[in-house]
Amino acid sequence: MNEELIIGIDLGTTNSLVGVVDSGFPLVLADREGGRLTPSCVSWATSGEPLVGKEAFRSRMISPERTVSSIKRFIGRTFSDLTAQEREDAGFPLVAGRYDEILVAIDPETLATPEEISALILARLKKIAEEALEMPVSRAVITVPAYFNNTQREATKRAAGLAGLTVERIINEPTAAALAYGLDKLEESATVAVYDLGGGTFDLSILQMRDGFFEVISTAGDTRLGGDDLDRVIARHFAATLALGELSPGEEATLLARAREVKEALSIEDSVTARFPFFRGSASFELELSRPALEKLLTPVIERTRPIARRAFAEAASKGVAEVERLILVGGSTRIPLVREKLQEWFGLVPDISQHPDESIALGAAIQAGMLCGRVRQIILVDVTPLSLGIETFGGLMNVIIPRNSTIPVKAGELFTNAVDHQESMAIRVLQGERELAKDNWLLGEVTVPFTPGPKGSARVGVQFAIGLDGILEVLARDTVTGEDHVLEIRNAAIDVDDEAVERMVSESIDCAFDDMNERIWTEAKLKSEELLPAVGEALALVGHLVPADDLAGIEAATARVRSALESESHDSTALKSANAALDEATQTLAAILVEAAFSGLDS
Ligand code: ADP
Ligand code: MG
Repeated sequence: MNEELIIGIDLGTTNSLVGVVDSGFPLVLADREGGRLTPSCVSWATSGEPLVGKEAFRSRMISPERTVSSIKRFIGRTFSDLTAQEREDAGFPLVAGRYDEILVAIDPETLATPEEISALILARLKKIAEEALEMPVSRAVITVPAYFNNTQREATKRAAGLAGLTVERIINEPTAAALAYGLDKLEESATVAVYDLGGGTFDLSILQMRDGFFEVISTAGDTRLGGDDLDRVIARHFAATLALGELSPGEEATLLARAREVKEALSIEDSVTARFPFFRGSASFELELSRPALEKLLTPVIERTRPIARRAFAEAASKGVAEVERLILVGGSTRIPLVREKLQEWFGLVPDISQHPDESIALGAAIQAGMLCGRVRQIILVDVTPLSLGIETFGGLMNVIIPRNSTIPVKAGELFTNAVDHQESMAIRVLQGERELAKDNWLLGEVTVPFTPGPKGSARVGVQFAIGLDGILEVLARDTVTGEDHVLEIRNAAIDVDDEAVERMVSESIDCAFDDMNERIWTEAKLKSEELLPAVGEALALVGHLVPADDLAGIEAATARVRSALESESHDSTALKSANAALDEATQTLAAILVEAAFSGLDS
């Protein structure tokens, strides 16, 4: 069918995700319940077909020994390769096959290889993608840890094959994270470190991004270090505090599940109460844990990432990497505030938390997949958009996202940023029409996207417009920093406009073209003046006493000219533009003095 489409998969130790690039916009696809994380779990808790994903994860407390998780630890390895500790920690029985392959032995009749179990997870992801995209998919890019050897990579490919997926490329997880990070910085060259602390594994990789290429310079990791270990430490603390003594497998699973919940909640809260209703017969327990107490428990585990990270840094240094500019955090466990604090303390780098900890690897895989297939979707010509659709941008201008006469279905998107410092939200006003100024177009709807306040240009909101065959416009605004989505559905407005209204709008836009254009130029010039005037004021306050009197008089005159042009009723954009230019010219000396003062460290 649609042979072009390739999906991107993050086959994680704990959670797996599937994504795709749609109209230049990488997205993680959600299952029917709207969930984007699929637990990498398979369970034979019930008779018949094994449960996969969420259902399997839920069954782990009832049937812990028939539920398989973290199978990624075993893929592409042999039985004799495993340590006794690894076999014991697996949580499910492992036996050796005839060729020394690892077999998960649920019961004598139910034996499965790690590849087969991984294939069940991959098949689930394939299905999620097919349902979300409403088309069959058969090609994928899959991510694996940078430290995976060839056998492990090949085994991952075979698992995909069993799931009905052809692997177009295997890429390294840190590379995928860097791809997601660098999507809009492809021209930059930078050396970045990716610190990935997930559920069962930790790794730190140092990469060089140059001209859109990403090269892993060094990588170090521990395949047995992650959120699960933190859960174990907390569960042990619960068991000790409550003096529970010997635990049944079910009790242990319950303690671990509670430990994880408490841990995750304490990334935000200061204190949490863990409740164990009817834990043993009719006995119920309750236990409070504070953030400082949790941190005391977690510190030794988190400290274990330090020498590993150091190794990767040292290796990069030995390969001539002088400086790592950025430390990018990914993996669910990097949400823990203590991790962030420690990293800053250890490496003196402010961790970059711009990436979604759960999704960035899947997004990177999707981006790679999108690059491979060119992501051109065959468009069925059904209808066209009668009028342009866009949003209002800074200064009240219309920014067209889908131009008039685009065939539907159609999708297009653009990335926007905050125009001023400490802006807390962005109002997305959805407009339809052909006029240059927002106010002259029709307002179809509005949605406000809140974001974490930061300096001008730090927030990133991706806005995607999609018109389906049904003519419904769906506006998706995503804060790319938090991954939070805001969806606005506009029924019938996009296509269902009566012909007369369209005609009027179009003819008005032609009639008003000259005025409109002037108005746009005016607005742009006005924005420039509004930037210029306070800047000149500040510079004068700082170094005005060093500027020759002649220049001062010139600056004053030019400032007055800009002010009066701004006040003009007729919005004379030519006058304003030339006034701006004159002010620019008049402040040359002032600018030079300012630069000099900055260099000599003048502080008056
Ligand atoms: P993997 O790459 O191993 O599949 P993920 O990156 O999905 O794993 O991370 C899963 C881990 O992240 C789990 O151990 C989970 O408990 C942990 N995690 C998720 N959210 C939080 C949070 N808010 N605070 C602490 N840990 C979290
Ligand atoms: Mg991961």
